[in-house]
Amino acid sequence: MSVLDLARPEIRALTPYSSARLEASGGEIFLNANESPWAPAADAGEGLNRYPDPQPAALRERLAQLYGVAGEQLLIGRGSDEAIDLLVRAFCRAQADAILISPPTFGMYSVAAAIQGAAVQVCPLRADFSVDVDRLLAGLTPAVKLVFVCTPNNPTGGLLPLAEIARMATALRGRALLVVDEAYIEFAAAPSAQTLLAQHENLAVLRTLSKAYALAGARVGVLLAAPCVIELLRRILAPYPLPLGSIDAALAATSDAGLEQAGGRIAMLRKQRDLLRHELGLLPQVREVLPSAANFLCVRWDDAGATYAQLRSAGIVVRDATRYPGLAGCLRISVGTPAENRRLLDVLGACGKDAE
Ligand SMILES: *Cc1c(COP(=O)(O)O)cnc(C)c1O
Repeated sequence: MSVLDLARPEIRALTPYSSARLEASGGEIFLNANESPWAPAADAGEGLNRYPDPQPAALRERLAQLYGVAGEQLLIGRGSDEAIDLLVRAFCRAQADAILISPPTFGMYSVAAAIQGAAVQVCPLRADFSVDVDRLLAGLTPAVKLVFVCTPNNPTGGLLPLAEIARMATALRGRALLVVDEAYIEFAAAPSAQTLLAQHENLAVLRTLSKAYALAGARVGVLLAAPCVIELLRRILAPYPLPLGSIDAALAATSDAGLEQAGGRIAMLRKQRDLLRHELGLLPQVREVLPSAANFLCVRWDDAGATYAQLRSAGIVVRDATRYPGLAGCLRISVGTPAENRRLLDVLGACGKDAE
């Protein structure tokens, strides 16, 4: 059995749109795509009169190298949000199939399912916010085509061990595709699930340049999966998903110099996270700070509403997490620069030493 047997038959049978850029390579005079023959008005940007390469070879090669996969195992889209949407659309038939999630977790999985008309089954995290793998597998129904796990999990920050991911992928073989969202894996002292791709055709890994590589505004996300899954999703991907400026920004951010700078910043954020967790834990109004392998902390307060308002009036915006199941009284706080973190602690009345 191929993992494609889990996909929607009409998508497998679809003849995708064939763009001018895909049909013709090489040449000197381009009269094939109804583009303007002139560059746009001054300063708008060199080369912008032409449609961009749908999956630019240089970027694909660079990202394949960065993530340790072959080029055919990789799809570049508009953030990993787009990959989530494509997966749900390709694998879930409306009013028939379902996804499975472990809340509290990232909200986009159930939004993508709702848009597609797919049901959302839930297997809540345990009281300690770990994934209940045995219960999840035991409760799986045939309607479930995609199982989403987020590690480190947004908004709790917990990590799912690689051995558990491998165990899930094995148990789900022939039944569902396991999607591992690693938007924050660079901040964790743990290996990526990309190393499991070779043994598990029903595994897909989401990566993004939005967080660790500081490119949230460029919208570049990556799906790592079996070549047949990548080929399937390319059929429903927009013809030209990546704007030229985003391609250039992604190449710069993943250049040798870019990676070196990102590495230094990741190390600093991890250190700041651990300092911040310690100092927040000393505050009398804090009930608990969940252990986090990401670049944020989930903090439970005596009065989350009052703390939110106190920070807001000092100009500091954090994320209200109180609406998530199991996170009553919690706010999610991103780790900022050392100066920003110090300011946060000062406003909250911390009397600790400099966070630097
Ligand atoms: C931020 C985030 C994403 C979205 O990343 P983009 O690549 O910017 O779309 C995906 N998953 C999780 C868990 C996130 O927190």
